[in-house]
Amino acid sequence: MVASSVLGFPRIGANREVKKAVEAYWAGKITADQLTQAAADVKKSNWTTVKAKGVDFVPSGEFSLYDHVLDHSAAFNVIPKRYVGLGLSPLDVYFAMGRGRQADGVDVPASEMKKWFDSNYHFVVPEFSDETDFKLNFNKAVEEYKEAKALGIETRPVVLGPVSFLVLGKASKEAKAGFQPISLLPKLLPVYKQLLADLKAAGAEWVQVDEPILVLDKAAEYAKEFTSAYTELAPVAPKILLTTYFGRLDSNVNFVAKLPVAGLHIDLDRAPGQLDQVLAAVKPTNIVLSLGVVSGRNIWKTDFQAALNLGQKAVDALGQDRVIIATSSSLLHTPVTLESEKKLTPEQKDWFSFATEKAAEVATLAKALSGSQDAAVSKALEENKTSIAKRREFEHTSDDAVRKRVAAITPEMLERKSPFAVRKEVQAKHLHLPKFPTTTIGSFPQTKEIRQARAKFTKGEITEQEYDDFLKKEIESVVRFQERIGLDLLVHGEPERNDMVQYFGEHLNGFVFTQNAWVQSYGSRYVRPPIIVSDVSRPGPITVKWSSYAQSVTKLPMKGMLTGPVTILNWSFPRADVSRELQSKQLALALRDEVIDLEKAGIQAIQVDEPAIREGLPLRRSDWDEYLKWAVDSFKLSTAGVTDALQTHSHFCYSDFDDIFPSIQRLDADVISIEASKSDMKLLNTFKQYGYSNQIGPGVYDIHSPRVPGEQEIKDRVAAMLAILPDSLLFINPDCGLKTRGWKETEGKPNVRRSATSSPPPAG
Ligand code: GLN
Ligand code: ZN
Repeated sequence: MVASSVLGFPRIGANREVKKAVEAYWAGKITADQLTQAAADVKKSNWTTVKAKGVDFVPSGEFSLYDHVLDHSAAFNVIPKRYVGLGLSPLDVYFAMGRGRQADGVDVPASEMKKWFDSNYHFVVPEFSDETDFKLNFNKAVEEYKEAKALGIETRPVVLGPVSFLVLGKASKEAKAGFQPISLLPKLLPVYKQLLADLKAAGAEWVQVDEPILVLDKAAEYAKEFTSAYTELAPVAPKILLTTYFGRLDSNVNFVAKLPVAGLHIDLDRAPGQLDQVLAAVKPTNIVLSLGVVSGRNIWKTDFQAALNLGQKAVDALGQDRVIIATSSSLLHTPVTLESEKKLTPEQKDWFSFATEKAAEVATLAKALSGSQDAAVSKALEENKTSIAKRREFEHTSDDAVRKRVAAITPEMLERKSPFAVRKEVQAKHLHLPKFPTTTIGSFPQTKEIRQARAKFTKGEITEQEYDDFLKKEIESVVRFQERIGLDLLVHGEPERNDMVQYFGEHLNGFVFTQNAWVQSYGSRYVRPPIIVSDVSRPGPITVKWSSYAQSVTKLPMKGMLTGPVTILNWSFPRADVSRELQSKQLALALRDEVIDLEKAGIQAIQVDEPAIREGLPLRRSDWDEYLKWAVDSFKLSTAGVTDALQTHSHFCYSDFDDIFPSIQRLDADVISIEASKSDMKLLNTFKQYGYSNQIGPGVYDIHSPRVPGEQEIKDRVAAMLAILPDSLLFINPDCGLKTRGWKETEGKPNVRRSATSSPPPAG
């Protein structure tokens, strides 16, 4: 029999119960016990749901209150010194590591956060040194396995594998120069042994051990470590399903197939082409192959016929008992259930499949491959055939005007009229910015009042006029605030946006929206990605009204604020029937029109955010050039239609640029802002090393944490920046937008002009 499996389920709860409980706990409104109870309820509902859909391998242990990598660090006692001895409960130490803590005399910043592979999920980076004292503080895998078992549900626990855990981490500040986390493997394995042996003793037959780094080029360097780790672990552990996702194994399969593991999971959604190579490698072994044919990353209904073809090929090669039909990755990156969507048309609803529906898909596919004669299975196969045929029909209706415009893009359309050096002079005359111009990244706190007004407007409880008036008042007060604290280049604050991507999607043709399709970004922060379903175009100006209004109430220059094409694409669920390149260029043309309209309306600086350009980078280096070509071209296409006087900005959030530096330069934005408060100026050194020539605003404090940095801390940062960058190129700004912060922290925060230059506070 072919078995079915789900690698992980969303943690938020169908009605955002976990997000709400976590935030209530932070606010002191519920106790730790109440939080644990809320989490237990959602875990129970997840297990029950997946099982009820007929899935054979139900995951446990992958649930998290903040981040599963952070859970793992906390369990293995990988707790940086700065969080120890503060008199906090283990739960509060855990949250302090995730988000920093500033209360009751405790003041610690958050740990570094990084993008989880090429997704929009962020994990908390583990910090290691020779002194790291691994021990099992608690065995989450066993606890949750037992928790499910007590409910009568047999699960397959999920554990992050030892090699990925170390390789995804970094050397701590205390570590000796040249220290490599992977050197700790011999010290770490005994703790894994204990964890896995406990799981076995608790009755787990299988364990899913995630080694996602196996789809990266660099995994090849760790072949020896993988071999020694799994040779040591396999004898004491339940049967190990070694799990990879988001990419292809390529030549790594050669050593992977020789590991003493009982199963191997591969992602056939992202990399269907790897099946033949993997089949050939595992055929002579006893390894069970788990085929990730149901996407854990998108929301489209699976094309059963295509999935069955892949499955049949594996069954032919290995036999039914050695094949599992699975989701390609954890379903963490998909929303909980389509059932919560009341506003999609029946036609649209028929295109999609969220986590709960995907669980049913793997079960149906596995039964079909096992040769089931069950009427329900045949019915499901028939229905899928009809749905897919209807979707294909819809996909064939394209917008010819848009397609023609994309085909007519010329190289000249990508370039500004003059080089940066010339533009800088022209812009100086127009903008009159002082030395070390201060600005922000765009958003100001999204307060309860703003969210309430938006909700009322959406429900029709207030008129458009009332909503507009409310937003104008907000904008004006944000403008006054910036004037009062002495910022130089202002923003309107983005109160009209529910989200930087969703908002644009809602104002463009080609998108569909959900009511409840939340996906975790980091911690308790969730986003609701729009879905691109057809060709994209702009029916009319989107932000011009708000930016011009903001400009009309101040004499200081106002920066227009847009989300870039690559970021809109990456943070939406893209179409699967056409290339990402085509979708990105369509978005770029729509934004290009918006940029030109903003300039016409008198706006002199425009920021086009591209925080997702780095995360969209393919996981394999051999695929990079192709991506970077169209991604950078898309940004340029969106920004190059203006005169030299228009100062273009771009913002990149938390990104590593070491390896894509030439592309950042090729964007040719007049000013870029980047994260620099958490990564210890490492990024800035990269910019210096490559001789970056345009202006740059490295963030002077971390906005993802509620913690307010002191004035001296900011001064020190600016001094450190000036030691690296020429002062004529430096802008002063926070790391990112302030939408997730409260006003109290915000007032404490952007007062950077004073901190940076020690000039007297501005009057007014
Ligand atoms: N302009 C956006 C904001 O300030 C940028 C956010 C982001 O980069 N994630 O909110
Ligand atoms: Zn950002």
